[in-house]
Amino acid sequence: MNEAIRLVLSKELIILDGDGTLYIGSKPLPGAREFIRFLDEHGKRFVVMTNNSSFSKEHHIRRLSRILRRRFSLNEVLVSTEAAIEYLRELGVRRVYALGTPEFIQDLIRSGITHDPGNPEVVLIAFDKTLTYGKLVRAVRHIMSGVPYIVVNPDVLCPTDRGYIPDAGSIWALIRAATGKEPVAVTGKPSSLFLNYMLRKLNVKPSDSVIIGDRLYTDIAMANENDIDSILVLTGETRAEDLVNSRYKPTLVVNTLIDILK
Ligand SMILES: [Mg+2]
Repeated sequence: MNEAIRLVLSKELIILDGDGTLYIGSKPLPGAREFIRFLDEHGKRFVVMTNNSSFSKEHHIRRLSRILRRRFSLNEVLVSTEAAIEYLRELGVRRVYALGTPEFIQDLIRSGITHDPGNPEVVLIAFDKTLTYGKLVRAVRHIMSGVPYIVVNPDVLCPTDRGYIPDAGSIWALIRAATGKEPVAVTGKPSSLFLNYMLRKLNVKPSDSVIIGDRLYTDIAMANENDIDSILVLTGETRAEDLVNSRYKPTLVVNTLIDILK
């Protein structure tokens, strides 16, 4: 038995990243289906924790179920949008203006938050694939007039079948350049807001979990900052040479999920 599989089997909850770890675009990555099957066969609890706020939770569940050929339940998929909604609830915020897709805004409305472009209490910066110049102008004006903003996920790029596309972190960079202001919170990975929301929801201690992901500054950063063991896969953004100068260090590194099962 290799070290990676021993680590996985010793934990109560396996926290998996989506893009770059289990799939890219609509295709499963090598070993993804086999790894999920292995977890099921060993009765291991797992959750796919994704920063991709461009899709609704339902869309993520449908997509994962199709790609990995297994039905995913509500508690097996968590999206950064949920952590943002939870945080807005804690703040008592009811009205927001969001740079987000229609699916993202639908998830907000379903949880009782009003999308109010004219008079928001908070501006939300999400992975908006429907971004327009007009939306940017509106967001910048609100923030410059003193409305605080929250970044839903800090990812600069998102991998797709046809290469990388700009993600919420790139939109954030534009907002920051234009306004000179910092957000009051970043709610996706590596934020402990997202991690704690998930651990509370699933009733698991940090030390009883392991994070498996492809990104140093989100997946592995969240693990390091919360003393959680982690496994880096090299199927996404990170190259082996990136590790040398990284301040974030995974417990173990594997090329693909298949290597965990060897
Ligand atoms: Mg990823």
